[in-house]
Amino acid sequence: MLVLGIESSCDETGVALVETQGSAVPRLLSHALHSQIAMHQAYGGVVPELASRDHIRRVLPLTQSVLGESGRDLDEVDVVAYTRGPGLAGALLVGAGVACALGVALGKPVLGVHHLEGHLLSPFLSADPPEFPFVALLVSGGHTQLMAVEAVGRYEILGETIDDAAGEAFDKSAKLLGLPYPGGPWLAKLAEQGDSQAFKLPRPLLHSGDLDFSFAGLKTAVLTQARRLGDDLESRKSDLAASTQAAIVEVLLKKSLAALDRTGLGRLVVAGGVGANRSLREQLNAACARRNVRVHYPELALCTDNGAMIAMAAAMRMQAGLEAASARYAFDVKPRWPLDALPLAGAAA
Ligand code: ATP
Ligand code: MG
Ligand code: FE
Repeated sequence: MLVLGIESSCDETGVALVETQGSAVPRLLSHALHSQIAMHQAYGGVVPELASRDHIRRVLPLTQSVLGESGRDLDEVDVVAYTRGPGLAGALLVGAGVACALGVALGKPVLGVHHLEGHLLSPFLSADPPEFPFVALLVSGGHTQLMAVEAVGRYEILGETIDDAAGEAFDKSAKLLGLPYPGGPWLAKLAEQGDSQAFKLPRPLLHSGDLDFSFAGLKTAVLTQARRLGDDLESRKSDLAASTQAAIVEVLLKKSLAALDRTGLGRLVVAGGVGANRSLREQLNAACARRNVRVHYPELALCTDNGAMIAMAAAMRMQAGLEAASARYAFDVKPRWPLDALPLAGAAA
């Protein structure tokens, strides 16, 4: 079965083609991505109206290039999957509208996918896919959650952020340091030249005894340090970046290890944009190797938003019998949509 996946929840237009064969892990045939980062950079963040308009411009040409690259025709597609939420309403509507229009034109059913389930299952696109069950650390621009994952659709949230997400902490701190949007990768790059012990920054909720996170206070602490440095900020920027990254990474590391301890599971899956962070990967790899825990990540290019993870999540949900694609085409989008509200069985409208 051929699944075309369309992602348009925020500032990346992604399209991909995934093929399923029986119960084997679905295979990625091709994917294409257009990032709007350069367009939004002038504004220091995503401008929703511009995002929607750009998705409209990109989505069909990207679809054509994905088909061309895989050597498949549009009418070979069996199911059209799209991101139903969470995300920006106008941006989501572009992907949903195009997916349903393609579905109607082809006479093929469509399936709305949860964006976070896409991130969560994105490591299955890698050459060495994980096996269930595992602990998942989902660290993206808008979410930070630890989950016990038993199977596709069986997600128990063990802990989550009570305020900012890890990606937000990276981005907001980077902004305070005068780095471009989105700041995470820039801050990480700057941190490589800095001293991570130079500044004492808080590790919020590190010893809270639960698996929740809080990153809002960190941003305030970075602001305080930046103000204190005044004119010296420029020369100490890399030290402050390294100290900020170290604070975020330490909390993510310790809480992930605590989640492994609590569940007794021997496998960790990291997903979402912050999962691309090198320091986080190095520290998780080292700590997990000591404990004989296997760690899985998405390929670097598939950590942030992409169409492959949406096609993959749709394919895996259908394989698991959790959901059937629908030919009703009366679509809606869900800008706010907690992952644990996802139905375990039965098709969503
Ligand atoms: P969500 O999926 O929660 O709706 P999103 O789609 O914006 O949010 P992702 O695309 O998963 O999030 O990830 C984007 C985030 O990842 C941004 O906050 C970005 O700064 C961060 N990020 C990307 N690469 C790195 C890196 N190397 N180090 C730290 N953060 C990074
Ligand atoms: Mg993005
Ligand atoms: Fe995302």
